[in-house]
Amino acid sequence: MTELTDKIYYADKNILEIIESEFELIDRKSWYRLYRNKTDKSYWRLDEWDKYQEQFFVNLESTEKWSEFNDKTLRIELLKKSRGLSDEKCIWKDCEKNALNKIVYCENHAYNEMGIRK
Ligand SMILES: [Zn+2]
Repeated sequence: MTELTDKIYYADKNILEIIESEFELIDRKSWYRLYRNKTDKSYWRLDEWDKYQEQFFVNLESTEKWSEFNDKTLRIELLKKSRGLSDEKCIWKDCEKNALNKIVYCENHAYNEMGIRK
């Protein structure tokens, strides 16, 4: 069993293999799939595959309104964690945050304004 210790992951090949072997599909609704971990019974949500969108796999606290759970904060945190911060400031007007590595925006402006997901 592979333990998923973070709250959110990019659904890369590795994660998709873990889902395949260690999770069961419970439900599908509005572009999402609800999965349950076979071992610890935790619930997770996977975005339906779309060739233009990055797919995320997110841990859910509960299954209530699971398809409406807002995971934007987690997605932004993951973007920041995966890219890392540079020493430069974000170039967005009046933004005081550091830019992410290899781009000129902080995680918030990269995500919200530029549509960068990974
Ligand atoms: Zn910024």
